[in-house]
Amino acid sequence: MATILSGIPLRDKIKGELAVVVSHISKGSVPALAIIQVGSDDASSSYIKGKIKFGEDIGVPVVLYPLSSTARDEEIIDLILRLNGDSRIQGIIVQLPLPVHMDKERILETIDPDKDVDGMHSLNVKKLLRNDPSGIVPATTRGILTLLDFNKISIAGKRVLMIGRSDLVGKPTALAFLNRDATVIIAHHLSLDLEGLCKEADIIVSATGVPKLLTKKHAKKGQIVIDVGISRHEGKIVGDAEFEALSAFVSAISPVPGGIGPLTIASLFQNLLRKYTVGILTANF
Ligand code: NAD
Repeated sequence: MATILSGIPLRDKIKGELAVVVSHISKGSVPALAIIQVGSDDASSSYIKGKIKFGEDIGVPVVLYPLSSTARDEEIIDLILRLNGDSRIQGIIVQLPLPVHMDKERILETIDPDKDVDGMHSLNVKKLLRNDPSGIVPATTRGILTLLDFNKISIAGKRVLMIGRSDLVGKPTALAFLNRDATVIIAHHLSLDLEGLCKEADIIVSATGVPKLLTKKHAKKGQIVIDVGISRHEGKIVGDAEFEALSAFVSAISPVPGGIGPLTIASLFQNLLRKYTVGILTANF
């Protein structure tokens, strides 16, 4: 039976550590997080709720800036420029996805790279590419590595299969594994023989949003499976893996819900508070 890599106790540990850090910052100087939401997508609203709650729990102000789904690029860009110049705001998130009429690239590039706690600005992407630790690593990527480190699962030299190649999850996660000396393969929806690629891997990280993509046929004994996918299937929130079938087989697997999701939020606040936490936090890198 596989070890279940739950993200919840680790999220709570990080939360406790961050609350102590915040309690030592003088009241008026606690960095605030700004979240810009365009439109009212249900999934986005629920992720934002989670972030606001985490902020409340550790004493960090989270300010939501809702914009209409018909907002023009200039409105959001003006808002970001204002937040860039506001010294209380130390983190700015543009909740994705944005409506299709918006120029996502231009909008994300407007964020001050130092306040880009989602790690989406090209300067932070370049720093990840160059393995420069002064950059900000996207929260989901950071959460995945934190979960492996916490469970003492070694990465260096391992064969890692990253399924999914998005700018948000797949690509940065593949780079981060490479920076940790793994041998990395990236698969996507056109990759041939996913089953064969999976069988070759020591660690599989799946971020596709395709329910039941990974079955017992994809797994081999001793493997680690990190399931990042979140989708709704037959009325339930599920990941990319058939959890029951795989957990009878592999060595360790993260559940959905309760795996990477909670750690993504914790990692976001680690990014926000990174200047205050050097060397004192769980998997602080
Ligand atoms: P995306 O839609 O941008 O990318 C999906 C990727 O999956 C693409 O690269 C695509 O090529 C690949 N893919 C699709 N079908 C495939 C198949 N049959 N075989 C192999 N590859 C396939 O999505 P994203 O933003 O990267 O998010 C991926 C999933 O992770 C979603 O379910 C999302 O909700 C979830 N997610 C979870 C967290 C978290 O905190 N747990 C954070 C971000 C995203």
